[in-house]
Amino acid sequence: MEERVALRLYNTLTCRVEEFIPGGEKKDKIEDYPPVTIYSCGPTVYSYAHIGNFRTFLFNDLLRRYLKFRGFRLNHAMNITDIDDKTIAGARNEKISLRNFTGRFTGIFFENLKMLNAEDVEHVPRATESVDSMIDILTRLHEKGFIYTKEGSLYFSIEKFHAYGKLCRLDRSGIKTGLRYDTDEYEKDDVRDFALWKAEDDPDVSWDTPFGRGRPGWHIECSAMIRKIFRGTIDMHTGGVDLIFPHHENEIAQSEAAYGDKFVRHWVHVEHLLVDGAKMSKSKGNFYVLADLLEKGYSPRSIRYLLISAHYKKQMNFTLTGLEQAGQALARIDNFTARLKDRFSSPEDCKELRECIEVFYKNFTDSVDDDINISMGIGAFFDFIHAVNSLIDGDRLSAKDAAGVMDVLRDIDRVFGFIFFPGETKSSLDEKEIERLVNERNSAKEKKNFTEADTIRDSLLKEGIILEDTKSGTRWKLKK
Ligand code: AMP
Ligand code: ZN
Repeated sequence: MEERVALRLYNTLTCRVEEFIPGGEKKDKIEDYPPVTIYSCGPTVYSYAHIGNFRTFLFNDLLRRYLKFRGFRLNHAMNITDIDDKTIAGARNEKISLRNFTGRFTGIFFENLKMLNAEDVEHVPRATESVDSMIDILTRLHEKGFIYTKEGSLYFSIEKFHAYGKLCRLDRSGIKTGLRYDTDEYEKDDVRDFALWKAEDDPDVSWDTPFGRGRPGWHIECSAMIRKIFRGTIDMHTGGVDLIFPHHENEIAQSEAAYGDKFVRHWVHVEHLLVDGAKMSKSKGNFYVLADLLEKGYSPRSIRYLLISAHYKKQMNFTLTGLEQAGQALARIDNFTARLKDRFSSPEDCKELRECIEVFYKNFTDSVDDDINISMGIGAFFDFIHAVNSLIDGDRLSAKDAAGVMDVLRDIDRVFGFIFFPGETKSSLDEKEIERLVNERNSAKEKKNFTEADTIRDSLLKEGIILEDTKSGTRWKLKK
């Protein structure tokens, strides 16, 4: 039977939900596709990333995990913006080198991502290590007449690139010829030529090029890193919606003008995390960084759950109550996994369970294939938990069935990354050791050696493990 390739994603470029076709050519089987080439705009490392930024980064993580779950192979890059107006200003402010300054925030960023259980991507290019590719773009643009120079800086003449504005649907009549912006960021209602290369002679933040000494504008950095890694058209480019203009519009202009081929097939943009109706941002001061929330006692696991649980195209209002509800949802999942460790006595495997599992997989993939509708996917997961709980209540599961459900959880957690959360345990004990101690305590209890039983219980508690004695045996779970 032919396997259908069913993943559909909204494409900002066409304003439509489209079938996602890596390489641009439809194949019968997912494994026949070339590895999916994805580029995600990474953090500007001038400060701590806030959890609005992490909404976008965790969406990237969810997307890559789901693509792998569906059988695609991946070639995913996320850059580090380690030179731009903000990083230079930050380093100068602290009177330290740009490298030292950005190195600190890069390290913290990756620690945060790890804590949130995001997977490593295949490439992590740094802008400062990609200047050779920037020079290649500048040389080509210069030869083709897209560049002009003013006071030692190089600007892209947007009126020469007729497709300028295709991503953000710009009214080209609003384009102001010959007016320029030197800053990396500006508003769409005042569209101007943008700086590709800025005159600069501070040795800490500048390079010699055939066009004079200087440093890159922000936009050329991503175009250069994409070219350096992928060489040609890429399948997918992701970022937050604030990057559509001017950043991504300018990336398209430079790359397509320089190389002639299509830059990106599929543009995916994540909506903002809001606080009281406004975008969470550094400039507004209305942000939380991960450490703020950990200090308040929230777990990285709840933060991951909350940030990925809403559809990426919907704005999401951040509240601490939302985070508490995420914790409650996770507690339901934990109670379920704890229950699966009980003793199951049914001698026969349960047919209905097989049906439940099939229905769950179908509902889950149907939902998430539909433009990564993860909220529906999570809904299908809780329906599954509910259905299996009913089977357990009716003593319908065999030990093999329970192990099978555990396998489903492990499988689906390749996408969620919040069911079995690394680092969540404060214990140095592994599962086998915990189970050995639980059994030892049970035999002590059977022998009425309650002092020994209590000692074992207390020592497990010190390791962050809580025991619950139920009619079907002793369950253990991790303390929050
Ligand atoms: P930056 O470090 O400022 O370059 O931003 C890193 C990523 O976070 C970019 O993809 C931004 O579009 C995204 N971003 C910034 N603010 C928010 C927010 N409030 N909600 C979601 N994503 C955001
Ligand atoms: Zn970028």
